[in-house]
Amino acid sequence: MTTVSLKINGHPFQASEGDMLLKVCRDNGFDIPTMCYNEAVEPDGRCRLCSVEVSEGRGRSRVVVSCNYPAREGLEVQTHSPRVMAVRKLVIELLAARCPTKPQVTGFAKRFGVAKPRYKPLDDVCILCGLCARVCDQVVGVHALSLVNRGSTKWASTPFFEASKDCIGCGTCNYVCPTDCIGMEDVGDKRVFKKWNTEFTMKKCKVCGNNIAPEYQLEYIRKKWNLPADHFDVCTTCRV
Ligand code: SF4
Ligand code: SF4
Repeated sequence: MTTVSLKINGHPFQASEGDMLLKVCRDNGFDIPTMCYNEAVEPDGRCRLCSVEVSEGRGRSRVVVSCNYPAREGLEVQTHSPRVMAVRKLVIELLAARCPTKPQVTGFAKRFGVAKPRYKPLDDVCILCGLCARVCDQVVGVHALSLVNRGSTKWASTPFFEASKDCIGCGTCNYVCPTDCIGMEDVGDKRVFKKWNTEFTMKKCKVCGNNIAPEYQLEYIRKKWNLPADHFDVCTTCRV
């Protein structure tokens, strides 16, 4: 792997060529905020909160999204320049207008001094980061979600806003959602996803009677790995 030399906020560092600037900066102790980034999936730079200013030594600089901008020889990176801070503040203003009550957003608003967004509040809770769809695709591998429509009608959804036949009820989308807006709840013997209009019956352990996981998810795993029919009849606690 080729090593490159670059500067971050005027200090010299080395990095593996192709490593994304967000990782390089964080690995070297520079704090860069993110909302739509998760190490488990490919970055797509949607929220733009991780913007940094880069210059390749020819006098001109530009603001780029650090989660998907690769480290290169001779790059000079500014993580907190006035241009960077202006972009981050604008992003936070837009997020704060979209979902003004979510602690993940209000925390950033406080930190970036956004007291009252200039934009009309939408009272929504989804920031359209697309993380749910990316983990469903890239980690779970069932492709049950996508960002649908454009502009103000854009929405994270199952196909046609109906219960997806592909969703296995694993809950991974819910665990990564930065605004906790998918509304997954285990109630009695059901797992409900309010945002996806989906409900699953939970499989119970034959010994203790506690819920293990959605029957559909366990059957999906059992078939995928060619496991015996009774493999998930007993929970991991009762198995030992
Ligand atoms: S619960 Fe459904 S939509 Fe969410 S990650 Fe799992 S399979 Fe995908
Ligand atoms: S539901 Fe959550 S994870 Fe999915 S796009 Fe909206 S905020 Fe992001």
